[in-house]
Amino acid sequence: MNAREVIKALDSFDYYELKKLEKELDNGSFRRRLEKNIKKFEDGKKICVTCGSSLNDKKFSLVIEYRGMKKTAEFCAIDCLEYFLAKMKKVVKID
Ligand SMILES: [Zn+2]
Repeated sequence: MNAREVIKALDSFDYYELKKLEKELDNGSFRRRLEKNIKKFEDGKKICVTCGSSLNDKKFSLVIEYRGMKKTAEFCAIDCLEYFLAKMKKVVKID
């Protein structure tokens, strides 16, 4: 999910959901969750880039080299790899 999709989801919230989110922002629980999830990546735990589930021995890797940047993305299943590629196809225009 990208920032635009997050904003779109936010626009679909009803009053109750907005007040609940406002409370979570105020008490810091949203920030703590955000930091916890970022730390998971930084700690080097292998997780699927599409669904976030932890990767054991069953995984698929995709090396992406684009405009001088090289990254490896890992997926728990072919479905997650396909979903990622479909999303990437919409976002990235290959010359
Ligand atoms: Zn996955």
